Amino acid sequence: MRSTATAWASWADYRESESLLTEIPSGGDLPAALFFPADYSVGMANLGYHYIYRKLRESGLSAERFFLSPIPYRSVEGDTLLERFGVIMAGISYECDVPALLRWLVNAGVEPARKRRDREGAPIIGTGGALTYINPLSLSDVSDFIVLGDGLPVLDHVAETLRRKGSRTEILRWLAEHPSILVPSVHLDSGLTFELSAAKRCDISEDYGHGCWIAPKSAFGDTFLVELQRGCARGCKYCTLPSRFGALRQRPVGMVLSDIESACKKATFGRVGLVTPEASDYRSLDDLLDGLRRLDKGVSFASLRADGLNRRMLRALRSGGWRSVTVAPESGDDNLRASCGKGFTNDKLTEALCMAKEEGISSVKLYFMIGLPGENSSHVLSIADLCGRIGGETGLKLTAAVSPFVPKPGTGWSGADFSKEAELQGKFAILSKAMRRLPKTTFQRSSIKEAVLEYALSWASSRVSEMTTELIKDTGAARGSILRQLTAGIDKNEAESELERLGLLF
Ligand code: SF4
Repeated sequence: MRSTATAWASWADYRESESLLTEIPSGGDLPAALFFPADYSVGMANLGYHYIYRKLRESGLSAERFFLSPIPYRSVEGDTLLERFGVIMAGISYECDVPALLRWLVNAGVEPARKRRDREGAPIIGTGGALTYINPLSLSDVSDFIVLGDGLPVLDHVAETLRRKGSRTEILRWLAEHPSILVPSVHLDSGLTFELSAAKRCDISEDYGHGCWIAPKSAFGDTFLVELQRGCARGCKYCTLPSRFGALRQRPVGMVLSDIESACKKATFGRVGLVTPEASDYRSLDDLLDGLRRLDKGVSFASLRADGLNRRMLRALRSGGWRSVTVAPESGDDNLRASCGKGFTNDKLTEALCMAKEEGISSVKLYFMIGLPGENSSHVLSIADLCGRIGGETGLKLTAAVSPFVPKPGTGWSGADFSKEAELQGKFAILSKAMRRLPKTTFQRSSIKEAVLEYALSWASSRVSEMTTELIKDTGAARGSILRQLTAGIDKNEAESELERLGLLF
């Protein structure tokens, strides 16, 4: 491993700003780097990352946190250099995190390709996270092992195995004894058939339920993170949640409130961040909001459905200091939105946002997609029409964030076409022109290149995963050329049959 001690930098300020909410054991004498492929502010706002850190420590690994920035190769806990860690584990939430992980390893001088890393003394690299529910093959070239699905039920086996005395090959073979751990050197290189499955916690009350720290330098500031529910009972055709992450499971409201009350006794914080796909689907939301009011805590919701928004939720947001809401209408056209699986209309959305304005909200962020199945240019322009209507009728300051639709494995629209780059460019051009005419509206278009990468990696086979590593290692390769080669390499049938052989059908 290349020395990463190039410049002295310390996480001391960050450590001092954090308040620990739970007793966390030291984890023993086997150090494990737990990497999040984004800035500290993003990683520390991710409840799953808190869970995995705590579980690793409780299972007997001395986990320390690493982030992409601001200090990439020293741990938060002790400013310890990455080169001191023989085990590196990374939580990967979505496809574009894969190149970030690869670049981080390459810049540290760690060989990112597992086959070339296959020698005693080289770090063992494990991955897990949301992407493994969708397509773990995109991680198959970098990972010595991949934890599939919910990590907590699997990590005791990981920790116990990594602590056993054995050769690298033996350790990987022992890891592969667990049905929710994919070990590419065992499962992919053998050509045999397996019955792997992503771990899914049926009763999420068995998990920790809340964050380990209040971290004011995280994206949510002085917020206590608490989980309400997992999975989703709705069926939006583009979304991976209903099909890949399991049925809707909720934590009892008494348990959620008791977590918040005990956190209040241990630390000072202003807000409670509700970690949930759709807050309005939580059956005891009113009781929870009553409890929060009693405790004098504000609240934050990640995103709200227009058909679930009510005055109580808006008042709770305002009491937490928020003056902004986020809604994802996906399209400006009622019929196209209905075909996505979202039944609310432009009238309903505008009415909900008028109510938001009355309750003291001053701005709204709206998420849309272009390139949806059945879309034409008037559908694209309907986004600008809807923004104009909302701006005019509500007086809210508006941000429209528009991204290309990416068909994902396992969704209702997995077989849909991904639009050609030129087509998306054309649609963005039409929309930009129309959006320029709208007052008090900011238009944010996301990167087409990033969407291409997301598409390529969501359908990656192990061969495409190898290509990704090689292309990232080739530091002279231009981004455009990397994307062209990856896109040309996509073969959905190849990925599907490889997953079928592992028992992980889309
Ligand atoms: S987009 Fe939201 S409401 Fe629709 S299925 Fe996904 S999580 Fe559920």
